Amino acid sequence: MNKEELLKEYEKTFGEKAKDVFFSPGRINVIGEHTDYNGGHVFPAAISLGVYGVYGPRDDKKVRLFSGNVDGDIVEFDIDDTTVEKDDRFWTNYFKGMITYLREKYDNIDHGFNLYIKANLPSGSGLSSSAAIEMLMGIILKDEFNLDVDRIALAKMGQRTENEFVGLNSGIMDQFACIMGKKDSAIFLDCNTLKYEYMPLALGDYEIIIMATNKEHTLADSAYNNRVAECGSALKKLQKKLDIKSLGELDNNTFDEYSYLINNETEIKRVRHAVSENQRTLRATKAMKDGDLAKLGRLINASHVSLHYDYEVTGKELDTLAETSWKQPGVLGARMIGGGFGGSAIAIVKKSEAENFKKNVGQVYRDTIGYDASFYDAEIVDGTKRI
Ligand code: ADP
Ligand code: MG
Repeated sequence: MNKEELLKEYEKTFGEKAKDVFFSPGRINVIGEHTDYNGGHVFPAAISLGVYGVYGPRDDKKVRLFSGNVDGDIVEFDIDDTTVEKDDRFWTNYFKGMITYLREKYDNIDHGFNLYIKANLPSGSGLSSSAAIEMLMGIILKDEFNLDVDRIALAKMGQRTENEFVGLNSGIMDQFACIMGKKDSAIFLDCNTLKYEYMPLALGDYEIIIMATNKEHTLADSAYNNRVAECGSALKKLQKKLDIKSLGELDNNTFDEYSYLINNETEIKRVRHAVSENQRTLRATKAMKDGDLAKLGRLINASHVSLHYDYEVTGKELDTLAETSWKQPGVLGARMIGGGFGGSAIAIVKKSEAENFKKNVGQVYRDTIGYDASFYDAEIVDGTKRI
């Protein structure tokens, strides 16, 4: 999408000229899955697939939203309306949450606006379209009303939007990755302390290929919340003997020694993933620093295995993508990313093998699942900004 086309779409939709255009990226996650809400580490990066927003201020207090990706009309609500939306207006909650939390802090947000959005990333596919639109809203309001809110505070409001407006008990990773992204770098983030470090994603002759399962969104959100609850329950039991605030503080040995306290097979598996995945993320970022790409790839594969057996969030579609990827020439590693149960996977593939890779994995996926996967080559880009 180019800027001129977007400005035209806005004009067609709202019958007047727009003020500014913004872009908010989606994200991938190299490794560290389901570790954020467990106080562990993650290693995501913002991608060139994301959501554009075309903004124009209004004199009154109305917010008028139009999505070029949703069938339907403009959705309108008042800027001080904080009710959670349902059914075909549900998608506006991602905006409403951000407006609500920013207005709680800043009383100079005193007029409404028109906003036209258009995504070039598939929604509900584990690439974080939801955080992209939350951060889009955050940066637009910061820019328009000169708010002195910092980017990490906006990420936290996005997480709160998911938790309270959307009902998903997710961690901070998605919002942090979208808004703090840096060109050609991944973000090594400790979700316990929010300390972070940019690390160049120096992959040499290799590239990251994104593979979307195109599986329909089913009960992924309730299964996600279920995992959060299982880990929370196990943590409480461990805290009877261990002075820890989150599972991210455990190493594999301490977990082995104290896992008897959990006394529940399912919860033990969930914690084993949370702990081992956090350790893998630490080792993977070290491998990245050392330029040991083969090791990084092995850890990425191990992450998928753990998400399959211990966390049980993969499913046939994601397993087909990862397992087929592992068998292709020139592949360093592949795994599911995001919440799971559908969504997307990534593979690190030798550039010279990329076309072959897509053809082969695409064919096996179609034969096994019955419909196509989508393949994307995305660049690693800066976080949400005006363009
Ligand atoms: P993900 O963040 O992985 O894409 P989510 O289920 O968290 O998946 O978020 C997807 C939801 O976000 C959609 O169901 C919709 O409500 C909203 N959304 C995402 N992109 C758009 C868009 N372009 N227009 C309107 N709503 C969108
Ligand atoms: Mg999301």
